[in-house]
This record gives sequence, structure tokens and C-alpha cells, in this order.
Amino acid sequence: MALLSVADALAAVLAHAHPLASETVPLADAVGRVLTADLAALRTQPPADVSAMDGYAVRAADVTVPSALRVIGEIAAGRPFDGAIGPGEAARIFTGAVMPAGADTVVIQEVTTRDGDTVAIQRAETAGRHVRRKGFDFREGEVLLPKGFCLTPRGIALAAALNHATVPVHRRPRVAVLATGDELVEPGTPPAPGQIVHSNGIALAALARGERAEAVDFGIVPDRLDATIAALRRARALDVDVLVTSGGASVGDYDFVHQACAAEGMTLSFWKVALRPGRPLIYGRLGGMHVLGLPGNPVSAYVCAVLFLIPLLRRLAGRSDLSLRPESAVLGSPVRANDDRADYMRATLRELSDGTKVATPFPAQDSSLLVPLARADCLLLREPNAAAADAGTPCVILNLQF
Ligand code: AMP
Ligand code: MG
Repeated sequence: MALLSVADALAAVLAHAHPLASETVPLADAVGRVLTADLAALRTQPPADVSAMDGYAVRAADVTVPSALRVIGEIAAGRPFDGAIGPGEAARIFTGAVMPAGADTVVIQEVTTRDGDTVAIQRAETAGRHVRRKGFDFREGEVLLPKGFCLTPRGIALAAALNHATVPVHRRPRVAVLATGDELVEPGTPPAPGQIVHSNGIALAALARGERAEAVDFGIVPDRLDATIAALRRARALDVDVLVTSGGASVGDYDFVHQACAAEGMTLSFWKVALRPGRPLIYGRLGGMHVLGLPGNPVSAYVCAVLFLIPLLRRLAGRSDLSLRPESAVLGSPVRANDDRADYMRATLRELSDGTKVATPFPAQDSSLLVPLARADCLLLREPNAAAADAGTPCVILNLQF
């Protein structure tokens, strides 16, 4: 199979990915989720004219400086007042309290002097001052959060104020993660000779959870066809939307992911992508389950997950911002001419006083190196066959702080 470009490979993944079904969830569980229907205001806010300050509710026409008004009552937030303000009268009022009938203005308490039932006012106010009108924020029936909106904490605040306790959102993608490799042991385990501590499962599950997916980590699967097939079946039995494997995706004698997927009847979309790090990269579908077979090297697995798993999960979750947004920067050091694979170099990012971002690739770019991956701020994108470039040349990056 010929090497696919990253863009074509991503298009192939997304071609089969559709937003998941709708479910109704409590607002507290809805951050980061995408609405499946328009949300209209179920009420008007404020529901009546209310005071924006602590002071006195008055009739603006009565306030000539100096003037003294008779205080006929007190109105606090949540405790409306039955009476009406007549000529020469005022009511003590606090922030958020409903304006009494007859009054049209609030005089702030700082410009008043109280003496028993009388309040002296030292400053005139224009009519309507310090009053928040009924419906100032929104009116019942207005659609304020549209279908397709990804709920932020601010969006949740608005949904709550509109009086929605629950919201209809796309279901969260369910993801299973597994790592293949006889050389792997779980973190915290003493490795036997020839063994290494594995890191891909934890990283991939964390990435998926960061995208609000539900992730289950199957742990380590031995390099055997039967064990790999058993893991695929387990994922299907759990009805996960996406199975992400790491390692065993190439054509070595101990690489069983492709063979196991084929044996189970997977519809293969691609197996090789023209990118570095991470050429062996499998994508296909097994029944309704998306299978993403990532390379084993930790940097390859992570970069491929950023490029393909994140957009896939976002699409399933109903989002429309799928890939990380490319940003402009300049090179902080020279780079060599590139070959025919797109290269995603690990780089640091610093900002000059004029706002220019400077991306400096780490000298060592081997796909096994976790230290530069962990220290990188961004991936510096080098297009296939890009020419050598000097420091200061404009470049494109993907910020890893997302
Ligand atoms: P593979 O893709 O299985 O050929 O693995 C490529 C390289 O990545 C080998 O050096 C593996 O030991 C290493 N590797 C595979 N899986 C993991 C993992 N989960 N964590 C860390 N390194 C891994
Ligand atoms: Mg392996």
C-alpha cells in the first residue's frame, strides 16, 4: 500500500466518523460536551426591574438636591415589596431586589443620610439610574446556546441561568487503550532483564480523557496473535467506539495488530502514512468500532494520537474544531531539508517582545525519546520535501498546550 499523506489519512479516518447519539445529562456533567439541540431561555432575566446597587428606590422627579424623602419600607433580594412609592416617598433597597411600583431610580446609599424614617439625598440622579430592566440579559424563548455549541464553564453558567438543569449532548466516546509488547511492564514494576516500563497506555488514556472521552486501559497485551485477537474481542464486547493500540503495528515477526484485525474481519483504510514519527499507522473499522493502531515508540504513538485520535474523538463528540490549530512561528535554529514524509519535530517555543513566536527543535529527534517530548511546547511541522531553512525562517507549529 502506498504511503498516504497526513491530510488524506485524516480525511479517511473522518470519513467514517459521525457524531454519537444524544443523551440528556445533568449540567454538572456537561462541560466540554456538545449540544444536540438549541437551548432556549425558559425564563426572563432579570424577571423584573431590579436594583443594581444598595441605596434607595425613588421617583427621579422627586429628587431635587437637597431633598428629604419618607422611607416607607425595605426591599431585599428575594423579598419583594407589596407597596408602591408615592410622591415624596422612598424605599430602602438592596442589590438584586425588585423595584417597587412607582419608583424608577435608585440613589446609592453613599450620597444619602438616613435619619429615622427620613432619608436626605445629596445628589440628583437621572431617571432609571442603577436599575436593571426586566429582560436586560435575556428573554424567555430566546435561543442563546445553539445546537453544536461546545459547553464551556461560561456556557454552563448561561444554561443554568436559562433554567436548564439537564442538557441534550452527544454521548461521550468510549475508548479502549492497549499496549502490545512482551518487553513491557507496568509502571512501578521492577523490569526483568530486557524489559522496559511502558508509558503509552497511560499517555493515550490521558489524552482521550482530556477530550472528555471515557477511557479504559486494557494494559499490556503479549506479542501473540491469539492474545491480540482476544483483546480485540474484549473491546468489541465492551462496545467501545474506538480501540487504540500501541506497538506491533509494523511487519516484524512479533507485530500482530494488523494480522489480528484482518483475522477478525476489519475493513482496513490504511496502514502506512507519510509522516515522522510514526510511519506504521493502522486505521480501520471492525463492525462499528474504529481501530487506530499506533506505532510503539512513545513519541510516534503520542504524535499520531495528536494528529488522528484527537480529531476522531472530537468528531464523535460532535465538535467541529477537530485538529489542533496550526500557528505561525519562526525557526530558532536551522533545519535540514526534509525527505518525503511530513515531520513533526519536538520543539520549544519562546515569545519575543514583539509577540513573534520562536520554535527551536530539540537536537535529538529520535522517536523513542520521551524527555524532549515531555519538555516540548510544540510540534514544528516540516512539510514533505521542504527545503533546508535558516533560523528566522517562518514556520508552522502545533501548540502542545491544548
Ligand atoms: P513496536 O512498534 O512494537 O515495534 O515498538 C517500537 C518500539 O517502541 C520498541 O522499542 C518498543 O519497545 C517500544 N514500545 C512499544 N510499546 C511501548 C510502550 N507502551 N511504552 C514504551 N515503549 C514502547
Ligand atoms: Mg512491539
